[in-house]
Amino acid sequence: MTQELWTAVDEYSNALLVGADPALDAARERSQQSGLPDIAVSPSQGKFLSLLARIHGAKKILEFGALGGYSTIWLARALPADGRLITLEADPKHADVAKANIASAGFEKLVDVRVGKALDTLPKIDAEGPFDFVFIDADKANIPAYFTWTLEHSHPGSVIVVDNVVRDGRVIEAESTDPSIQGIRRFNEMLAKEPRVSATTIQTVGSKGYDGFTLAVVNA
Ligand code: SAM
Repeated sequence: MTQELWTAVDEYSNALLVGADPALDAARERSQQSGLPDIAVSPSQGKFLSLLARIHGAKKILEFGALGGYSTIWLARALPADGRLITLEADPKHADVAKANIASAGFEKLVDVRVGKALDTLPKIDAEGPFDFVFIDADKANIPAYFTWTLEHSHPGSVIVVDNVVRDGRVIEAESTDPSIQGIRRFNEMLAKEPRVSATTIQTVGSKGYDGFTLAVVNA
């Protein structure tokens, strides 16, 4: 199995099940032209997130890491007309591109982009929760802190998705000096001991390579 095959299968199923999407295609294009890194979720992953939020009936969504707003737009599509999405983005340039993409996609009234490091902006949204659905996709070293905050601002049934938790399998390297790997490992250890959630990790392959996500639900 190769990257080439994983990408070809993604292209095949995306052509059938996602298709051309002017708002999202334009968001990718603007992100690329603005020089943002190509690290947004893939179309199939974006649609998967959107479907999860829709299945859940989420009305309040929190996202860590907007980049150019690609996953934000997918998530916003799952919201009802009176829904709300807050996305936290540290890089002002990324946030500007995200705001432009979100506005072009017609979601500026539902989506609030908060600029700054998430650990600094989180205290300012203390009163906005509890959140029904949280997508954690910013710096991996701080996942444990983001997860702790999220749990305190959730309710029974809240869904938490954490992206890029496998990282080509490097998650099993206990001695890794990579802060991202150590952040994910600490998060996994927290999860294992946390009675307030039930969680699982799914490994994935596709156009974004070999990685995975963790899905957690807050217990009643
Ligand atoms: N969720 C986006 C998508 O799929 O379209 C991709 C997000 S990208 C993987 C990670 C983003 O997190 C980057 O835009 C980066 O600037 C942002 N970021 C990194 N550290 C952060 C922090 N401490 N607080 C908030 N955002 C951060």
